[in-house]
Amino acid sequence: MLWGVVSDIHSNHEAFSGVVERLKAQGAEGWICCGDIVGYGSEPNPVLDVLRGLPNMRAVRGNHDLAVLGRMDISWFNEAARAAVEFTQSTISAENMAWLKELPPRIEEPTFTVVHGSPRNPAEEYLVTVQQFHDNCTYFKTSPCFVGHSHLPMAFLMKEPVSYVDHGPLAPGQVIPIPKATRIVVNPGSVGQPRDHEPRASCGLYDDEKRTFTLHRVKYDVEAVQAKIRAAGLPEFLAMRLAYGQ
Ligand code: ZN
Repeated sequence: MLWGVVSDIHSNHEAFSGVVERLKAQGAEGWICCGDIVGYGSEPNPVLDVLRGLPNMRAVRGNHDLAVLGRMDISWFNEAARAAVEFTQSTISAENMAWLKELPPRIEEPTFTVVHGSPRNPAEEYLVTVQQFHDNCTYFKTSPCFVGHSHLPMAFLMKEPVSYVDHGPLAPGQVIPIPKATRIVVNPGSVGQPRDHEPRASCGLYDDEKRTFTLHRVKYDVEAVQAKIRAAGLPEFLAMRLAYGQ
């Protein structure tokens, strides 16, 4: 089966709609979402309405989802992130809030695992170094393990039997093989707020039969999203950064 893989949508409806359209056209029949569905952006309800309508959804919660639910201390969030949490709490529907509340921290399927940050600390750890990958390898059973949180499209692959780790950022269109019986972590990048200096929405397609992952980048109307963020009274920084992919 083909799975659309998304993460860190962050209430960016334009970006998410573009991604869903692209991945559906590529044949996605199931969906994997690594959390942070809300926060930062101005359209939590339209995003959740689209997400909840997708078939075979395997979604976990992220730290921003937990913050909106009042289940995470946001004192260490920066000012803009805190403002967005408060905005989301004031605008999200009761039904969408109830749906968010049911999201698990981790999902394990026979052909993949899903968490937000890292397998050993799903809510908080940014998995970005080879050392962290090594340390996390005993915390998941099925590969690939899909993660989000850093907003950086990248992959780590354990080359057995020498335990050499192949890793690096993922480029648009790049296809990576997912050999069986090896440890692999894949971050599809962020749909709604990419931070790799590339403003296009980042996402991927996982083929669990051919065992490949393909990275996609999708152009969307950044200016329209910026206008909505400003109209919602959210901090200017949250609008500006989208144009730079930071
Ligand atoms: Zn995020």
